[in-house]
Amino acid sequence: MEFNVNLKKIKPSGIRKLFDLAQGKKDLVSFGIGEPDFITPIHIRKAAKKAMDEGYTRYTPNLGFPEFRKALAIKLNQKNKISVTPEEVVVTSGGTEALFFSFYTLLNPGDEVIIPDPGFVTYESQVYFAGGTPIHFPLWGENNFHPHLEELKNCVTPKTKAILLNSPSNPTGAAFNKNELLAIAQLVQEKDLIVISDELYEDIVYDNRKHISIASLPGMKERTISIFGFSKSYAMTGWRLAYLAAPLHLVKEMAKLLQNTSVCANSIAQRAGQAAINGSQDCVKEMFTAYSERRNVLTKGLNEISGLSCHAPEGTFYAFVDISKTGMSSDKLAVYLLEGYGVVTVPGTAFGAQGEGYIRLSFATSLEDIKEGIRRIKKGIEKIN
Ligand code: PMP
Repeated sequence: MEFNVNLKKIKPSGIRKLFDLAQGKKDLVSFGIGEPDFITPIHIRKAAKKAMDEGYTRYTPNLGFPEFRKALAIKLNQKNKISVTPEEVVVTSGGTEALFFSFYTLLNPGDEVIIPDPGFVTYESQVYFAGGTPIHFPLWGENNFHPHLEELKNCVTPKTKAILLNSPSNPTGAAFNKNELLAIAQLVQEKDLIVISDELYEDIVYDNRKHISIASLPGMKERTISIFGFSKSYAMTGWRLAYLAAPLHLVKEMAKLLQNTSVCANSIAQRAGQAAINGSQDCVKEMFTAYSERRNVLTKGLNEISGLSCHAPEGTFYAFVDISKTGMSSDKLAVYLLEGYGVVTVPGTAFGAQGEGYIRLSFATSLEDIKEGIRRIKKGIEKIN
């Protein structure tokens, strides 16, 4: 029997492979997991309990509770400077679903989507699921993984439908600046394309940088699907909650997908999300402060190891470490550090061919683990040199 051919195009995840190898091993220090180590802040958990007791236990409207969409529209207008109405906001079961709905709504067979390389693994798989063709847009370590516009232009063909942007980026930590976004916006308008802008890490940007939403730039609101989440900002990965803002005609098509797939995001999670958005943002700042300190300790520690070099990430909780001087491939080094020193990392190649020569370390983990991890990595790298 022939199964869906699009599924055959999906390669097993390089992240999974490492985690499978780590199974059953004791005394590990893990820099592998891409999720906050914090528990969801107390006022958000309380709001969920209250919602249950008040009987918010039924289906919600497909696109989300109206009052929640209203609160999200206010946030998008005020914080992201994207002028949307509540009708242009869609609540989804996580950013992963928001991405999937975006690709599925936009793509016809053979349509091309330009995706970053290195980039979050799900983009390529989802473009295939939706019947499209992913085109890898190379990002380079020499440029701290910021885009070269000429190279982006070279990726555009008559079949290009959309460009996927992810800033701040998983895995590279790059946060695109306003001039870069303006240049991309101009290209997108010239070539009549759509941007899918994955902004899940909007709240984790360092050194007083300001996160900029491309949909806030002139002429871009009409041609951008902006995706935001709760997983990273509020440590809510397990709740499966996110939202997107898109032009109304796209939202109308997307509504059909929701009606016929997940129906709606979890009702309790939506009430909790509303408390997160409307409540004090101190919790976001507190977690950010912790990530900041960990980032400094990790990058300093890694840069002191001869053979490694690590540009301090501009955003996210990932360090993308240049390991090319070790002479080992990223895959081999990740396995070497795991098997010899009990340190879990992710090979850069899990995020695309451009990730060769790098490993990704998530510092959404305790300072003690970070310090112990640095000690072990140092031992391991010194053995090679
Ligand atoms: N985009 C990026 C760049 C991510 O790193 C992640 C999670 N790792 C997601 C989207 C999806 O997040 P979620 O589905 O938990 O909202």
